[in-house]
Amino acid sequence: MAVWDYEIFWKEAMSQIKEELEEQEFVMWFNIQYLRSEENTIVIGVPSSFYRDQVKLRYQSFIEGKLHDLSGQQISIQFEVVPKKQNTADTDTRSQSNGTTPERRSSSEPSSKNQNQASPVLTPQQKDPHPLLRRDYTFANYVIGDNNSFAANAALAISKNPGTAYNPFLVYGGVGLGKTHLMQAIGNYIYEHSNAKIIYITAETFTNEFVQAVQANKTTAFKNKYRFVDVLLVDDIHFLQNKTETQEELFHTFNALYDANKQMIFTCDRPVSELKHLSDRLRSRFERGLTVDLQPPDYETRLAILKKKVEARNGSIPQEVLELVSKNITSNVRDLEAALTKLIAYTELVQKPITIEIAQQHLKDVFASPKHSNMSIEVIQRVVAEYFSLSYNDLKGKKRTQNIVFPRQLAMYIAREITEYSTTELGLEFGGRDHTTVMHACQKIEERIRSDPTLETVIQNLIRLIKDYRTKN
Ligand code: ADP
Ligand code: MG
Repeated sequence: MAVWDYEIFWKEAMSQIKEELEEQEFVMWFNIQYLRSEENTIVIGVPSSFYRDQVKLRYQSFIEGKLHDLSGQQISIQFEVVPKKQNTADTDTRSQSNGTTPERRSSSEPSSKNQNQASPVLTPQQKDPHPLLRRDYTFANYVIGDNNSFAANAALAISKNPGTAYNPFLVYGGVGLGKTHLMQAIGNYIYEHSNAKIIYITAETFTNEFVQAVQANKTTAFKNKYRFVDVLLVDDIHFLQNKTETQEELFHTFNALYDANKQMIFTCDRPVSELKHLSDRLRSRFERGLTVDLQPPDYETRLAILKKKVEARNGSIPQEVLELVSKNITSNVRDLEAALTKLIAYTELVQKPITIEIAQQHLKDVFASPKHSNMSIEVIQRVVAEYFSLSYNDLKGKKRTQNIVFPRQLAMYIAREITEYSTTELGLEFGGRDHTTVMHACQKIEERIRSDPTLETVIQNLIRLIKDYRTKN
């Protein structure tokens, strides 16, 4: 028996913390186990170094404070990474060490992940590329910046240990910010390092397939296809809004996979809480695991991405031109790439390196910032109306019910932010209102942003959707 034995304090601390935290948070971040006591120290096991860093950051002092209160001594905690695959008592540790209710996995059903990892793994060269994944959507090609480092590190941790700590993994963010790339990078990584069965599908294709299966009376085949995979990647789940039957089907798929500890990854163009016409139970499943958001990249990251893309295409574009592009295209990576494609096409055509002047000339349209372009108010109104499931006419109209007033004010605020229109002009565009109404709306929204900072994310998402609408149409 160890001279130092603090396990009893540990157990008590865990059961108190469990009471204090939301269940979801506890399940997420207290997947840790007591290993042993040393002098004034408890050593705990964590599933990965990423997990360790997060627990340290979020909870170390909180846990140590608890231990101090309970024992009257200064007991610090130290972490040891105990990868799950080596941990045969996988299921038991969690319930033993911290008293979480033993969940889902039954002892007769060994972790499938372990099976995957134990089976002989073909090296990447011996394998054909995965038929559903883009070959170039890998971590090696994914540039990490401040805007995406949390998401990318979580994605890496999941790739190394699928189905354990973060299930499901949900990535949200505006269009062209790298959701699909990141999701497929996880798929490619797992594919290369195991024999796991992986399916990537967009929510739209999933819906269409399901509808066809119902019509052809082949739902059993459909269920078997999705309920027996090791990794399920469903892209763009915002598409599921209003698709009641498909939601129902995905809900059952989710439960089957979750119970079997199979990794699920979803992407969405907005926070799940803002999806409309989505069943509560499916929403709560999406939110059960780890949710991360992607933000637009900053200048340095944009430049690094451009360099990587040029490299990948064996193109040659002078540094100063890349800087010019990075400076001027701030919206998202897709726009950045589109500009690059234009330039590379040009250099290939004329067979000589591009100059700053030529680049400027060629990208004139792309560079025009929305503030100076004739961004139509109508686009803003339509996008905001659609986002809040209102009609365009309601948004512009006279009704003053709360569910309309707020989106209307938000649309006014956004119009004020991203266009050059005066408040008088905006008033006219919003159903002939006075300029003071527009000013009042902007003040109201500013107040709300101060009291609820998440509103800023909603606004940024809307602005991205508006810009995207503009480029698509
Ligand atoms: P989303 O799914 O969010 O709309 P995508 O994943 O399709 O965005 O990304 C759009 C393009 O931008 C893709 O070609 C992708 O490779 C590229 N991209 C996005 N983020 C990065 C990044 N961090 N590093 C390198 N390329 C990126
Ligand atoms: Mg995508």
